[in-house]
Amino acid sequence: MLIKQIPIRNSLRNYMYLLACEKTSSAIAIDPLDHALCLQMADQMGWKIKIVANTHHHHDHIGGNGPVIAATGAELVSHKDATDAIPGVDRGLSAGEELHCGKFALKVMDTPGHTMSHICLYFQGDTKEQPALFCGDTLFNAGVGRCDFGGEPKILFETFEDQIFPLADNVRIFPGHDYIENNLEFTLDREPDNEQALSLRKKFQNGLNAESFVSDIGLEREINVFFRLNSAQVRSGIAASFNTRLENLDNEKTFIGLRKLRDNW
Ligand SMILES: [Zn+2]
Repeated sequence: MLIKQIPIRNSLRNYMYLLACEKTSSAIAIDPLDHALCLQMADQMGWKIKIVANTHHHHDHIGGNGPVIAATGAELVSHKDATDAIPGVDRGLSAGEELHCGKFALKVMDTPGHTMSHICLYFQGDTKEQPALFCGDTLFNAGVGRCDFGGEPKILFETFEDQIFPLADNVRIFPGHDYIENNLEFTLDREPDNEQALSLRKKFQNGLNAESFVSDIGLEREINVFFRLNSAQVRSGIAASFNTRLENLDNEKTFIGLRKLRDNW
């Protein structure tokens, strides 16, 4: 499977993705908001878009569906419970199902929390390629999705606990937005001594391109404060911010507290 990560450079800094089969050139477009750019890229690469997949129903993810489908005749797929909110869905997807395109397949993960009908698409990897997670607005580089547009922080925590934290360290992550530099600042606000976050921030300051930076789960465990629920500094910060005792905090309360602080940060 070939991956093209396409930054849109709009105010929300969305990413869209083209995933293509090397043998058949059939491709999946994920959240192709900038439809003209998406079609142009596919053309340039010689890829044929067969499927448009939406991670969730927010407009900055579905806004380009129409023109891409009109130009390619692609099938539109989404979470099975998002089919009312997304016009023209051909097929609703459920957890554990496989989405096939050419010779490759992605596993559908049901990952509520940012919205209540959100999917992530997982590529399990092969001899040439590390696994990859296309995670929409569930997981970002060094952050997680917000929950105040139809989501629920407790449910997002459960998604992380059950499905994201257990992923292998070598899973590359491909999120729906490029927020890494801001998110790193939040990690450092909560954990000023986080060495990996400090060193990555320095790399960006020295010119590393954030837009094309690809993180993996192993790195997220270090630089993403939402993965660091047991860090003493993170815990005591939450206890102080919410005026509660350390012993009252568990992973869930710490995660929800972080989400609340990040909302107003
Ligand atoms: Zn969203």
